[in-house]
Amino acid sequence: MYIGSEHPVALQSMTNTDTSNVDKTVEQILELYNAGSELVRFTIQNLSMARSVVDIRKKIDSMGLDIPLIGDFHYNGHSLLKDVPSCADALDKYRINPGNVGFGEKHDNNFKQFIALAIDHDKPVRIGVNWGSLDPSVLTILMDRNMKDGSPKSARDVTIDAVVESAVQSVHKAIEYGLSPDKIIVSTKISEVPEMVHAYEMLASRIEQPLHLGLTEAGIGSKGIAASSAALSQLLVKGIGDTIRVSLTPTPGSSRSEEVIVAKQILQSLDIRHFTPLIISCPGCGRTTSTGFQELAEYLTKYLEIQMKEWKKSGYKGVEEMKVAVMGCVVNGPGESKYANIGISLPGSGEDPVCMIYEDGKQVDTTRISEAKDKFKNRLEMYVKSHYSKE
Ligand code: SF4
Repeated sequence: MYIGSEHPVALQSMTNTDTSNVDKTVEQILELYNAGSELVRFTIQNLSMARSVVDIRKKIDSMGLDIPLIGDFHYNGHSLLKDVPSCADALDKYRINPGNVGFGEKHDNNFKQFIALAIDHDKPVRIGVNWGSLDPSVLTILMDRNMKDGSPKSARDVTIDAVVESAVQSVHKAIEYGLSPDKIIVSTKISEVPEMVHAYEMLASRIEQPLHLGLTEAGIGSKGIAASSAALSQLLVKGIGDTIRVSLTPTPGSSRSEEVIVAKQILQSLDIRHFTPLIISCPGCGRTTSTGFQELAEYLTKYLEIQMKEWKKSGYKGVEEMKVAVMGCVVNGPGESKYANIGISLPGSGEDPVCMIYEDGKQVDTTRISEAKDKFKNRLEMYVKSHYSKE
């Protein structure tokens, strides 16, 4: 797959299984793939994990899945790739963190070896800087320089400068060592939203390589979702970012694929990519007296997710861009339903107990609440068949 330039912003995810457990890792890759992940990364920490990569690749290929696999290396990537050439071949991309490849001369030698292996195996490399594991030599130089400056910056600002500097220097070194400039992707991950946005803006102004966006250690639940959305959106609307990952901490027992679902919703909310018809539903308020409205919104959300797979299989083009309104009363219901491709406005308290159905801005039907689910579903089916051509 191609990343960068005019290609669509790609969705990435990362497994949290022990990579040496081939079956579990393949199972999770499949789960992430089914959720919509277009690239999957997993950690390769030791020889056992490196040797497992070939089996993971074989199983993924035998299922006919077209999904690039990325190896995430820290500290010993240069030796693992050298010692297990079959792993180096089986991966589609390598990720290296320039803060975790050794110190001083060792740092440069290890980095050089890593790049040489990428060149030998004809693989792209993501230079992924993380402020939690920043190359201390870059930070020290910038801190010293800052001390001598007449109007020094705060230590936090210098750290952000060092994150970007580490990434830019590593890109230049990789090119100097012979890696083609178009085989490099870069990221500067930080866990604070304003700092992360600032770092990527600086990075985008200094290099031409595609950028992989992510708010690292975003957190758990709604905090992680809100922080990731805030960070990624600020950059994506400016045209910065070629691949994204949402780094959520899963709650115990929850699906790893939540990070893919959130990433898709961010892109879809920004109108950058479309994956499934968008439900526009109001929050409800004192005017919605029954749970009928909530049940219908929930039912249709699930129904559209499932049905989208069928419509895609049948070849209906553009149906993922359809907007469906499900509204709770007459205040905003007819208006939102008219803006959507198709919508239903339920009666609020004190209104006539009739739901109004709209298509392309016009009211086309009415139904009672008890029949709303089936009638609106049939309308949706007919709408798709009549408005979206088959490929
Ligand atoms: S559309 Fe009606 S029910 Fe929904 S939030 Fe607005 S006023 Fe409340």
